[in-house]
Amino acid sequence: MKFVVKQLTKGVPRLGKLIELNGKPNITLQTPLVMLHTQGGQVPHITHEVLKLVSNNPHILQIPLVSVHNFKEAMDYFDGAINEFIGSEESICCLTLHDPSNLTQQGFNAKGKVPVWTKNGKVQYNSESYMKTVESFRPDMYHLLSDGDTNQSSTQKRISKAVANTNAFHKECLEIHRTSEKLKDCLIIAPIAGGYSISQRKDCLESILKDDDEVGGYLIDGLHNNGPEVEFLPFSDIEPIVKYSIDKLPAEKLRTIQGCWNPLTIIKLVKLGVDIFDTSYCRMLTERSAAMTFPIDGTEDSVTYEINLRQLRYLDDFQPILIGCQCPACLKYSRGYIHHLLSVQELLGPVLIMIHNIHHFLRFFEKIRRCIDEDCLSQLETRIEIYFTRYQQEILLPQKEPVVNDTIY
Ligand SMILES: [Zn+2]
Repeated sequence: MKFVVKQLTKGVPRLGKLIELNGKPNITLQTPLVMLHTQGGQVPHITHEVLKLVSNNPHILQIPLVSVHNFKEAMDYFDGAINEFIGSEESICCLTLHDPSNLTQQGFNAKGKVPVWTKNGKVQYNSESYMKTVESFRPDMYHLLSDGDTNQSSTQKRISKAVANTNAFHKECLEIHRTSEKLKDCLIIAPIAGGYSISQRKDCLESILKDDDEVGGYLIDGLHNNGPEVEFLPFSDIEPIVKYSIDKLPAEKLRTIQGCWNPLTIIKLVKLGVDIFDTSYCRMLTERSAAMTFPIDGTEDSVTYEINLRQLRYLDDFQPILIGCQCPACLKYSRGYIHHLLSVQELLGPVLIMIHNIHHFLRFFEKIRRCIDEDCLSQLETRIEIYFTRYQQEILLPQKEPVVNDTIY
């Protein structure tokens, strides 16, 4: 797998492409792109077959280790790659450590060990056990082991330990990768730790960049502990760290960032030069019965950023989630029907919302690429900002609109 960037400039929105994908020589993926967040190898709420109805284009599946840890034994017997095992041979798989849609427990990282909370409880990974697992899964790309347990309130001591651990994991994992026959075609993404400290980021970057020729891209890690809180993490807080890191990173390498970032923050990160994100934001919205309705082209008949289909106002609303949307949910089903499904706790309710959210988010990224090409990304940013700011103000209102009560049905 190779990454080719259109303009080798730093700190600007950029277009690129991933080519020469393992076993898929005819496929090209355009960046900035969004990886499809998965749990247990599936996009939450929808199967691979339904996903093809939403988008028939090739995608990168983000496979958080925490959600597939229990597959390892079966994968050893299977003796194939993770995309084949999960029934999605046409996909490209990226193995990551934590699940960006769920809050990762803090304060359990120790020297040489990273804890992962699986369904069976806490599992401690060291470089050796982690790389054995990566070998069992044989992904197309993967994150090296790292200590990303830092956020805005982390102490200098914790940040310093995170950097020391990440630097050590980096060297140990690369050592194993070099001699691994199974991983010789895998693209390596190296996490950069250091929390909100420029000096710690500097130390981490200096150490990690020594092995740049073996690495395909970098993850700006340690900005948060995952979960829904990332949606409202102020961009002004992360901007200096992301900007500093990108300035130091080689322009020809991929820059990735994980988390439930809102669309406005995503555009601002793209403007700094980030190439890869994930769809954990779609999952988070779906879990709270919210569907994205913010305009992408500016021609949509929408006055809202998102709608919560559990609200009673949708009981007799027979419009689609978003008028004009061509997703399978909007083409066939109404807000009123989805509201009813949610009220009787039918599984189809979140399925239809997720279909729409994934479709809308993929369109959003297509639009971002088009805007970069046509040099009008700021116009899209302004449009999204108006809607997102209004939504932020609404959710801060003390009185919330009534939502359907499950027990009355
Ligand atoms: Zn739709």
